[in-house]
Amino acid sequence: MTDRDLDVVVVGAGMTGIAAGYYLARSGLSFAILEARDEVGGVWSTQRWHGVRCDSDFIKYSFSFRPHLSPLCLQPGEAIRAYLQCVAEECGLVPRIRFGTRVLRASFSHTSGRWSVETSRGSLSARFLVNGNGYFSEEPHVPAFKDVERFGGEIVHASRLDGRRTFHDKKVVVVGSGSTAICCAPALARVSKSVVIVQRSPSYIYEIDNRAGALVRLCQHLYRLGLRSPVALLRGVLQAKDDAIFVAFRRFPRAARWFFRRHWARTVDARALERHFTPRYGPWEQRIPVAIGLKEQLRSGRIGIRTGHIERFTEDALVLSTREVVECDVCVLATGLELEFFKLELHVDGDRVPLEGINLYKGLMIGGVPNYFHPMGSWHSAWTQRAEPLIRLAVRIMRHMKRRGLRTVAVERRALAPAPGITPGYVMRALAKLPRIHGTTNLPSIDNLRLTRLHGSGFTFS
Ligand SMILES: Cc1cc2nc3c(=O)[nH]c(=O)nc-3n(C[C@H](O)[C@H](O)[C@H](O)COP(=O)(O)OP(=O)(O)OC[C@H]3O[C@@H](n4cnc5c(N)ncnc54)[C@H](O)[C@@H]3O)c2cc1C
Repeated sequence: MTDRDLDVVVVGAGMTGIAAGYYLARSGLSFAILEARDEVGGVWSTQRWHGVRCDSDFIKYSFSFRPHLSPLCLQPGEAIRAYLQCVAEECGLVPRIRFGTRVLRASFSHTSGRWSVETSRGSLSARFLVNGNGYFSEEPHVPAFKDVERFGGEIVHASRLDGRRTFHDKKVVVVGSGSTAICCAPALARVSKSVVIVQRSPSYIYEIDNRAGALVRLCQHLYRLGLRSPVALLRGVLQAKDDAIFVAFRRFPRAARWFFRRHWARTVDARALERHFTPRYGPWEQRIPVAIGLKEQLRSGRIGIRTGHIERFTEDALVLSTREVVECDVCVLATGLELEFFKLELHVDGDRVPLEGINLYKGLMIGGVPNYFHPMGSWHSAWTQRAEPLIRLAVRIMRHMKRRGLRTVAVERRALAPAPGITPGYVMRALAKLPRIHGTTNLPSIDNLRLTRLHGSGFTFS
């Protein structure tokens, strides 16, 4: 097998690329995984700030073929990276990953029925392309602040922050109200003189104690004894619970708002509840940050919280629209990343494919681009809960085509209006460019039932 007659090229060795590798290795299809960086993990290798972790239960977010058993529900970033490395090693994927190899451009030819994949280290040819290049850009989102050049302290974006640093003699401000701020602030508070969260507007935040419950522990125990179905069932139940909460919160926002007010009412007084914990948007219009230990640190005063626009910086402080002055030595921007769905150029028969606003059928195939799979995980739940079944479907399609001697599979290009499942700032900033997902309910527990059968509807084979 040479680089010229592979069945599949996979882009990226993050969660998506590793899952694709696992299913491809079992399928008998030949493949290579091309990874720009020098290690596996994707975002779980690039994000190294204090407190970086997932906010999906990891028993559900880890792969179905290798569920991660742990007394903790949410895992730190380093544990997730180590898990992915371990899966890659156990499944014999490491020799198939070409590290330090960035895919620059991929061109499909109907004449040959193949992709020509140009990389920073030469070119390859394959019948199919599976793109797991992630959806965050390498460049963080850094808002423009007035008088920032006057500030005498340090300003660092969370994505550039090394989680091993300490700030014991420094006053730290964390700017943001999303998951990054909510994970980062409690961890920073342990290594800083003081921490204040400065948020432009409040978010819904849900605090957990992170210990796996009795049912989860029981299922894990049975799994260790060789009985695997309880964990599989548990994952399905947790997914159904995520979907039910998502639908219920969107359908009954008043009840959901009441739920969150009660959740914070015993931690902060009525004024703080109104100012800092009462968002302007409806529940689950944005991802809900999950906190661990935040309540306790707010109560003890180790973390403060302020809500208002940052009007300007001074030599040693931020001045908010509320006239509050928040002194600080270090300003950590937990202002998020930009979305970037395609990190390579795609060409079909010599023409560059315009990717802005392209339709993404079932979250798997984009319009008008044959033999190309782009598994898109779930927004409101664990990424893998939708990405992994989609990868299985892609592998089934590729095997089916190989058996039947079919050359191409494609979906039609269609113009669709954007209809994102959630509407946080990073989605709204990229709305014009976002792929338009169709052919799904956006609820993995329902979609996945329908994905178990390969029915040709929507896909055109030739
Ligand atoms: C801090 C943080 C917390 C998160 N928490 C959760 C959570 O709790 N639950 C959840 O479901 N999701 C979470 N996510 C979203 C997360 O991005 C996805 O769950 C998932 O990890 C995406 O995996 P991926 O492999 O598709 O992409 P990535 O992890 O981004 O990996 C893509 C890989 O492709 C490589 N690559 C990119 N372009 C090229 C190229 N041109 N050539 C070669 N290689 C390339 C990159 O180097 C990278 O290794 C979180 C994200 C972040 C940043």
